[in-house]
Amino acid sequence: MNIGIDIDDTITNSSDIFVKYAKIYNKIHNIDHSINTDELDQSKAFGWTQKNQKEFALQYLKIILQEALPKENVIEAIKKLKELGCNIIFITARKDTEVDGMYALTKQWLDDNNIEFDKLVVNCDNKLQECINNNIKLFIDDNYFTCKQVHDSKKIEVLLYKTNYNKNYKNLEFEIVENWNEIIEKVRRKL
Ligand SMILES: [Mg+2]
Repeated sequence: MNIGIDIDDTITNSSDIFVKYAKIYNKIHNIDHSINTDELDQSKAFGWTQKNQKEFALQYLKIILQEALPKENVIEAIKKLKELGCNIIFITARKDTEVDGMYALTKQWLDDNNIEFDKLVVNCDNKLQECINNNIKLFIDDNYFTCKQVHDSKKIEVLLYKTNYNKNYKNLEFEIVENWNEIIEKVRRKL
């Protein structure tokens, strides 16, 4: 079975590190905004203009992605999925325009953390299409809207990975998971 997996906040704790540097940035730039980590929109979450968002990404994004840590049990879980015969395809919207050499940076991070995979797709702005192209049967992402788009194709099963900004979503059309052990159990039942 081919499994498509998002990277940021699905296998990493990127948003925790993002918030750490956002606090530093706001202090330096005297942006007086009560940070709301339940918001995905950066203007609401951090009080940023478009200019702030660009400047922040340019200055900190590379550091954030390198500093991010794998989520609990994800290394073992991916290893297990590989043992069960699954192919792992990471599909991320991480953009080369934001950080030069995004593919290389992401591959290095996966290798450094001993996370096995069969394919890595960066710069992806249409995850449904990428899932279809790669014959994905199960897709895992923390972004509700991406999950909904993939789910609505009626071709691919979806698991939404729980995070701050989707934790209050109720009555979803697809399952929500809270950790990687839960994902392993669900995959086992599907094989
Ligand atoms: Mg994500």
